[in-house]
Amino acid sequence: MNYTVSIVGRPNVGKSTFFNRLVGRRKAIVHITSGVTRDRIFGNSEWNGVKFSVVDTGGFSFATSENDVLEKEIKNQIFIAIKEADVILFLVDIKMGVLDTDREIAKILRKSQKITLLVVNKVDNGILYSDTDFFHLGFENCYYISAINGSGTGELLDKLVEIFKDKFVQKKEKIINKEFLPRFSVVGRPNVGKSTLINSFLDKNHHIVTHISGTTRDSLDVFYKKWGYECILVDTPGVRKKSKIRENIEFYSSIRTVRTIEYTDVCLLMVDAVRGWEKQDTNIFRLVKTNHKGIIILVNKWDLFHNKNFSIQKHFEFLIRKKISPFENVPILFISAKNKNGIHHIIPLADQILKSRKNRLKTNILNKIMLPILKKNPPPSKKKKKLITIKYCTQLPSCTPIFIFFSNFPQYIKESYKRFVENQIRSHFDFRGVPIQIFFRKK
Ligand code: GDP
Ligand code: GDP
Repeated sequence: MNYTVSIVGRPNVGKSTFFNRLVGRRKAIVHITSGVTRDRIFGNSEWNGVKFSVVDTGGFSFATSENDVLEKEIKNQIFIAIKEADVILFLVDIKMGVLDTDREIAKILRKSQKITLLVVNKVDNGILYSDTDFFHLGFENCYYISAINGSGTGELLDKLVEIFKDKFVQKKEKIINKEFLPRFSVVGRPNVGKSTLINSFLDKNHHIVTHISGTTRDSLDVFYKKWGYECILVDTPGVRKKSKIRENIEFYSSIRTVRTIEYTDVCLLMVDAVRGWEKQDTNIFRLVKTNHKGIIILVNKWDLFHNKNFSIQKHFEFLIRKKISPFENVPILFISAKNKNGIHHIIPLADQILKSRKNRLKTNILNKIMLPILKKNPPPSKKKKKLITIKYCTQLPSCTPIFIFFSNFPQYIKESYKRFVENQIRSHFDFRGVPIQIFFRKK
């Protein structure tokens, strides 16, 4: 992990002298960027085995004597430092004391809340100083150095390395914590409104945590934290409309969809209300089911239906459930991602599904409810003499719900009976939107 330190301060406080001390004159790489962003000088440094970059943002400081221009340029320099640095070293000159420009710079730096160390330079001068002068600038950490002879710089560098190490640990913890958050992915054909939904969820409380493109995982992860819910929302962006390889859109998007689904807890399968349920939607649905992921169906662009009466919605729902049969027990929401209608139900529902997916039924409760039903409705048998019975059932301690039913003749139990058993489980326990697996085993 390479961290960056920026040196800021008004002209003549000793920024380039200090920069050269840190990186060594020959190692300095000069980047000259024209335009609004000023010249910056980058270099690499190392202290106690920890490497870091140093930026001297003051490459322009010889520029002008006009106060207003100077002020603008200093502000530019600080703006760059705030943007690029992990830690800012704010240099002042002990000979001159605190000037108005120093106070102004201090104000901007304090507001930015970036870690800033106040560095009082030129202490080799033999000038007596009082801490309180610089204390008024409002920084907790103050270091007295001489950029020319190096005195005091060791202590400052020790502090820098300590900050980098803390930052590294914090970052690692942040990544680890995020890995444990539930992942809800928006999947669906191109143009159904997936990105629009993610954008509607985005506001100042959310930020993008990763943007991994390429072969392994091509998805956009957004950290969502609101109303007591915390999760990662995943969009499957990419080639789509703007692509030159238009004919491959479906192909690429389906590969991305497969990958996204693998890394998901609950899929939000979005369909276009205007186009209705299409074959591709069935394919995606099956993919979610065979991966045993939770699922919610979002019928998007519902705003385009002016006649949104209840019977139309019911009919729509009926058609979808027919297409996804026999796993019909899936929540279907009618939303407008664009107008943000109905979207506030999505996360709580996904969270509920997440819980149901992890739900472990107690064996005695499961048997108490299921066995009488199965006794009353035993699996049909061709061989009349051989009555197929189910004696016992249990849920495995797996990540997704798997039920085992023990029978005398499991080999004779048909798919249709399995569906009957699944429906019975669903009617007594909440597994809405959760695919469940059922196996019959020999007792
Ligand atoms: P910048 O404009 O902030 O980059 O400042 P410079 O690094 O160009 O330094 C301005 C002047 O201060 C130069 O004449 C330096 O030799 C002098 N200077 C820098 N650091 C020190 C120091 O630690 N002690 C003394 N006495 N002079 C210094
Ligand atoms: P994606 O390819 O699935 O990410 O789809 P986009 O989010 O890019 O949306 C595709 C198009 O559908 C855009 O023109 C959106 O403005 C439009 N769109 C998305 N959501 C809605 C909606 O709720 N209502 C309407 N009328 N249009 C929508």
